[in-house]
Amino acid sequence: MTRKPGSAHGQSGSAARGGVDTAVVAGVTIKRASKVWWPDEGITKGDVAEFYAGIAARIVPWMAHRPLAAERCPDGMLGHCFFHKNFASGLPEDVPRTTIRAKSTGRPVRYVVGGSKKTLLAMVNLGSIAIHVMNCRTESLHRPDWLAFDLDPSTGRFADAARAGQLLREILEEVGIRSYPKTSGGRGLHVFVPLRAGPDQGTVRAFAREIGDRMAARSPELVTMAAVKRRRGDRVYVDTMRNAFGQTIVAPYSVRRRPRAPVSTPLDWDEVTPDLDPARFNVRTIGRRLAGIDPWADIWRHRQALPDLPPGRDEAAETALARTRRTSRPSRRSRAA
Ligand code: ATP
Ligand code: MN
Repeated sequence: MTRKPGSAHGQSGSAARGGVDTAVVAGVTIKRASKVWWPDEGITKGDVAEFYAGIAARIVPWMAHRPLAAERCPDGMLGHCFFHKNFASGLPEDVPRTTIRAKSTGRPVRYVVGGSKKTLLAMVNLGSIAIHVMNCRTESLHRPDWLAFDLDPSTGRFADAARAGQLLREILEEVGIRSYPKTSGGRGLHVFVPLRAGPDQGTVRAFAREIGDRMAARSPELVTMAAVKRRRGDRVYVDTMRNAFGQTIVAPYSVRRRPRAPVSTPLDWDEVTPDLDPARFNVRTIGRRLAGIDPWADIWRHRQALPDLPPGRDEAAETALARTRRTSRPSRRSRAA
């Protein structure tokens, strides 16, 4: 184990010491910067702050104007973690926030609105490892500007998510839609479709479900739309519920709370192969990749309108649709902390 507490900000030279175990990264004070967040890799909280400061030009555009949620792990990846979205207190006054009423309770939630390196680092200071984003901007919360598919392999094997991803790409191409894959940083695959603003959350979600149903109909041994876990077997679950008001997905370039500190990494479809190890793209290695071609460079030049899917779908798709609609609606997602 190469454990070097405090090495990050000590070696980088870009962070001035602001006090005992405090680093100043891009003008933001990071408390307890030498706290080890990944013991096996010797990655500290200060390292994560430096990582985000270095990658800000890539990640901030994905956070800008969007309500955020943070996955906070004040004691690092092995400690207690929780999702946090109501930032009514605990952040500097000048961090932009917006109040959104929770659909379920009607209570106001003070979301942080992304858009600057400073905001990002203020969240790291609060112990955030991962940054999660909504599919819409604050000015049009009910009109998403991307559609997201979250492919979750029940086997925990990325290879299965990659196979389902290629099927998804093919089915989207058949209806004239271009899509963009990224590693989740976990075992799954996320696929984004940039949207020309217009359709509301429900319309976008209905389209996503229809595509998921087509996947399940075409490859029933590989893909499932079953919201209930025990009905999935070994299949890849296509989660279309990321396309709903108040839901989030991890931001491209966010770090994940997993061994090796993987980063959710935009990919070219040619890279989505069963032998890809998503943890290859991590806090230590991603810099090299960023120096090369950005496979998502043109994403915002390809905002798309969703086509009306032709009626008269094949019967297998109809049956799968009926089956998934009979299962209970997805409950609140839980995550072992
Ligand atoms: P993996 O590839 O391991 O599935 P993931 O990021 O896709 O990684 P999921 O559990 O599939 O993880 O969740 C998808 C998204 O839903 C997350 O990226 C996150 O934004 C959101 N999410 C998951 N769990 C919670 C939670 N407990 N509270 C709030 N949002 C959550
Ligand atoms: Mn997932």
